[in-house]
Amino acid sequence: MKNIAPIKECPHCGSDEGYYTKMQVTGSVRYHIGFDGSERDNGDMYEHLTHKGGKVAYCSDCKKKLFKLN
Ligand SMILES: [Zn+2]
Repeated sequence: MKNIAPIKECPHCGSDEGYYTKMQVTGSVRYHIGFDGSERDNGDMYEHLTHKGGKVAYCSDCKKKLFKLN
C-alpha cells in the first residue's frame, strides 16, 4: 500500500520530512523462533492484525493536521 501525499511539504512549518497517521492496532501475532534461539521468518507478523483509524495525516515535525487520507 502506497499513499502519495497531495502536498510536497508541510504548509505550517515547511518541513519535507513526511507525515504520520494515528492507527489503532488490535489482534495477536505469531512470533516464530527456532529451537536454537534464532529468529525465524516473521515477515507476515503483522498481517493478522486489524488496523483502525489512519484517516488523517499529521506533519512529522510540527504535528499539525495536514490532510485526510482515503
Ligand atoms: Zn509541519
